[in-house]
Amino acid sequence: MFKKILIANRGEIALRIQRACREMGIKSVVVYSTADREAKYVKLADEAVCIGPPPSAQSYLNMPAIISTAEVTDAEAIHPGYGFLSENADFAERVERSGFTFIGPTPESIRMMGDKVSAKQAMIKAGVPCVPGSEGALPEDPKEIVRIALEIRYPVIIKAAGGGGGRGMRVVHTEAALIHAVQTTRAEAGAAFGNSAVYMEKFLEHPRHIEIQVMADQHKSAVWLGERDCSMQRRHQKIIEEAPAPGIPRRIIEKVGERCAAACKRIGYRGAGTFEFLYEDGEFYFIEMNTRVQVEHPVTELVTGIDIVQMQIRVAANEKLPFTQRNIEMRGHAIECRINAEDPYVFTPSPGRITLWHAPGGPGVRVDSHAYTNYYVPPNYDSMIGKIIVHGDTREQALARMRTALSETVVEGILTNIPLHRELMVDAKFIEGGTTIHYLEGWLGQHRR
Ligand code: ADP
Repeated sequence: MFKKILIANRGEIALRIQRACREMGIKSVVVYSTADREAKYVKLADEAVCIGPPPSAQSYLNMPAIISTAEVTDAEAIHPGYGFLSENADFAERVERSGFTFIGPTPESIRMMGDKVSAKQAMIKAGVPCVPGSEGALPEDPKEIVRIALEIRYPVIIKAAGGGGGRGMRVVHTEAALIHAVQTTRAEAGAAFGNSAVYMEKFLEHPRHIEIQVMADQHKSAVWLGERDCSMQRRHQKIIEEAPAPGIPRRIIEKVGERCAAACKRIGYRGAGTFEFLYEDGEFYFIEMNTRVQVEHPVTELVTGIDIVQMQIRVAANEKLPFTQRNIEMRGHAIECRINAEDPYVFTPSPGRITLWHAPGGPGVRVDSHAYTNYYVPPNYDSMIGKIIVHGDTREQALARMRTALSETVVEGILTNIPLHRELMVDAKFIEGGTTIHYLEGWLGQHRR
């Protein structure tokens, strides 16, 4: 096992990784920007090294600074967390070429999954069901494009192969709008992602977002750890996640989960990963794979009892998975609410000093957050300041626990989306379960004040 790991991230995930290291008897080094000088995990770290000013490009995305910090601190491995450099194949390559272990998949896997066209092609080959669409990138010939759309049937969605973060997508309802939409998306994709390749998919009108967590070792073993329902989204960003997904027959989920585990073996995947699907009318459709730990991993940890971050570290250290698919059991129900420093209804960020922070507690309640009373939320990064995660024997119990937890939580000095979560936890449709990815936007349209 590693003696020392460098954490190339910030915020709650830096603290989460640090906790995993501490439990495993591994020393951790954190790198931080001057904006994060007072962060809790920086104070708690075995070693902390300032690598630059607040802008990410000069700190958390600064590859030479991160790698040279690993060198001077004698770290053996680098955990990239999520966001920042976690899905950057060049970074993974540089880490390994410099003699460190990258806690994540191989650069080849990251590269393959980072291009949505090649990811989809690999998934089709591996027998994972995909959204009906163009085979690969769209050709130049407008006649061909029109023919492909006719075959898929309107509405269709034009997506950038290199897209991410909900950007680089355009829905098309009629043939008259098609070619212009393809040209515009191409131009935007070229400018934003440096890759103007676009592809076409059937646009699903009332899907749910369901994803499968996988874990694979370097000894040909791969398992899936159940699913998560992440349909509660605003601006294509998740705010509530839960496991299991309410109302979907187990046999349908098991079938797709087994395909995901098999696909991991086929592509030689290692570490943690997530297959994201849209689910509509009893069918799963693959949209993309994330080759890293996800924000919402705790809901899976609570229902499976498996520590995903520790498992990532073990797999990177070349250990075998300590379980097989048959040993994995889902118990109860877990829900996560992401706590963001933002206006709860219009989402403008609300950085600043937290004058009072009181986290909830009690049975089945977990809080993953780096915040505390007097913590200053810097304006430079993502607005998420923590997550409240609850576990119960049933979904009803989990919902009740989340309501109690949210009612106990006090955050003063900045705005947070806690009031929104409180309202959603008593919303009849959410309580019923099975809302689509458009539900929250519709709800906000009616309730916005
Ligand atoms: P990104 O990498 O930018 O997050 P995704 O491919 O994961 O892109 O898609 C993000 C979101 O866009 C999905 O969660 C869904 O809300 C919507 N979306 C993507 N593809 C489709 C589709 N074929 N039909 C309907 N909605 C889609």
